[in-house]
Amino acid sequence: MKLCRTCHKQLHYNNLWLRCQQHAMHSQIKMTERSGKCNILKFVKVLSFAFIFVILVIFVAATVRTLTFDVNAGLQLAPWEKTNNIAYDINQQQRGELLANFKDAIRIPTVSTSRTDQNTTALRDFNDLLRKAFPTVFSSHLVQHEVVANYSHLFWVPGSDLALVPYMLLAHIDVVPAEESDGWDAPPFSAKEIDGFIYGRGTIDNKQSVMGILQALEYLLIRGYSPQRGFFIGLGHDEEIQGLHGAMNIVKLLKKKGVQLAFVLDEGLAVLDGVITGLQGPAALIGISEKGHATVKLSVSMAPGHSSMPPWESSIGILAGAVKRLEDNPMPRLFGEGPERGTFEHLAHKFGLPLKFVMSNMWLFSPLLGRVMERSPETNAFVRTTTAVTMFNAGVKTNVLPSQAEAYVNLRIHSSQSLQEVLDLIQSIVGDERVKMELMHGFDPLPISSYDETSFGFQIIKKTVLDQFPQVTVAPGICIGNTDSRHYTDLTKDIYRFAPTWFRPGDAQRFHGINERISKKNYEELVGFYFNLIQNCDIKDLPSPHSAVHEL
Ligand SMILES: [Zn+2]
Repeated sequence: MKLCRTCHKQLHYNNLWLRCQQHAMHSQIKMTERSGKCNILKFVKVLSFAFIFVILVIFVAATVRTLTFDVNAGLQLAPWEKTNNIAYDINQQQRGELLANFKDAIRIPTVSTSRTDQNTTALRDFNDLLRKAFPTVFSSHLVQHEVVANYSHLFWVPGSDLALVPYMLLAHIDVVPAEESDGWDAPPFSAKEIDGFIYGRGTIDNKQSVMGILQALEYLLIRGYSPQRGFFIGLGHDEEIQGLHGAMNIVKLLKKKGVQLAFVLDEGLAVLDGVITGLQGPAALIGISEKGHATVKLSVSMAPGHSSMPPWESSIGILAGAVKRLEDNPMPRLFGEGPERGTFEHLAHKFGLPLKFVMSNMWLFSPLLGRVMERSPETNAFVRTTTAVTMFNAGVKTNVLPSQAEAYVNLRIHSSQSLQEVLDLIQSIVGDERVKMELMHGFDPLPISSYDETSFGFQIIKKTVLDQFPQVTVAPGICIGNTDSRHYTDLTKDIYRFAPTWFRPGDAQRFHGINERISKKNYEELVGFYFNLIQNCDIKDLPSPHSAVHEL
């Protein structure tokens, strides 16, 4: 005899029953409920396992990448072609002469104030200075020289091997205005020495390169050097006001001659020492692109009227609303979609954990990093197209409603956006037909130059930097400002923007700011850099990264 398991009544049916009919039914319902819950639980369990598995796979992949990621793999291990390099050793007398030439250049106020206002007397004096400072360059049968647009200079040094594609070095002679009363520690055109630094407008933008390149060539010629690979030197006189006469006319001349260039090296980025938080050692950033640019005029026109009977909205109010909307709605976050990704990946191995882990895995972390970087204006510039309202004009009298209100917006376009996309976005953010939009000036971001193991220009610049400064990490970077080199895109696909000017914390503010300066040591290093670079360009081919791996 069997009893119901629940109520212990006697069971009347067969032995399979464990409960009376009533309780058996309850139990079945409970079983069905339980099995439903069971299925959901099972599903959640599978889902959790799958989730944990995916996280684990991502973590393992990211860890493997962190441990093995090496942008220098191969190339640094391969032997470089041997060239008969002349060593850069200068004696005391040359050191004095080199600094004196540089100081003379700083003392000439070659200021570009606006497109219609340049100090042409100073530019003429600068022409004379170059001839006086570099007599060998101007008298050597190896160098051809041409003055372009009165104050710019084009030099051509033919190479002995005609099969080698020439390259070009660029710099600019003009400077932005500077007033001692702005707070300079020394008059801005004095080239005064303070604690081993030469102070003056142009010391880091960009007379260090103008004088550095020609000084290096002067020394090379004196030492009997003649290049295998030909090269041009282009010195513009109006870069600070867009290079419309200097750089553009030099390019016109070269185009007429059918010149194509292996690469161009212009001003731009520098060696950053202690500037990037968390990075071990200094970083030499070679600019491989520049942000694009747009200046947009927004205007509202209305019938003028007396302030005693104002309409509900004034031209000023409508325009102010549009400007506010532009500030409240920044352009989309694009961090990691442009070449800034390469910068972080090249620097990753010089960071400690956990930053090394993050930077080796930009494919995973760039959205997160973008959010962190947009918090400061300095780093936000790398995250998106920036929007800056720079001018706002309206009204002439306190009791008259102005008929016209206008504002200028200056935008620096991220590498992965086009000028047209930005203009469309402004239109939709402003969203008011009464606000007229006019593009005053603009261009797309510059093409991205190559920086892989087969990129001749990038690797030659990198080798020259590492030979001279072994403690430095070289990485590609983006220029957020613009240079003369943007006019050269028809002559080459590879444009680099770099000089080994050392920037320590606070130095970036000296650029176009007060107390612009360079150390005497750094200027000597710059001459050495160009001295070695010109010779390194005689290398015919880069070492093959693959053969190097096999040799191991
Ligand atoms: Zn400059």
